[in-house]
Amino acid sequence: MASGDAQRTWFPEMIEMLNQTWSASMSANELLALRDRLDSALETIRSERHILPAMMWCPNCQARHRSAPPKASVRAMILALGRFGMASASEVKALEHRWNTYRKRNQLDRYGIRTGDVLVEALIGFQGLMLQGCPRILTHFEGP
Ligand SMILES: [Zn+2]
Repeated sequence: MASGDAQRTWFPEMIEMLNQTWSASMSANELLALRDRLDSALETIRSERHILPAMMWCPNCQARHRSAPPKASVRAMILALGRFGMASASEVKALEHRWNTYRKRNQLDRYGIRTGDVLVEALIGFQGLMLQGCPRILTHFEGP
């Protein structure tokens, strides 16, 4: 496997899917459905190519193990529209604003899923992926 793929979120097939499907007139529900499709595509690509998440140092169990596989968040999808030249900077900004408002109003997590799970919500970025992939995650949050 190519060494850069371990934490990769955007593969050419997904950029193509985004390019063909996204339009500025999409409703919030349509955007969330597109995110779901991109996330499934990411999972399929990673599994077909046997791409495993990177081995990293885990701050919870103080050992090296694999992180959870990356997922496509709604914000990452919106930013990708700008990054890959499908939307202008002002369109991206407007979309981000719309998404933040919609997300708060409907209490959705970063993947557009109504979770109510503050733990998952708190796990962001690199540390979030490490903790989600941590076999000893429960000991960390159960307290003494
Ligand atoms: Zn761990």
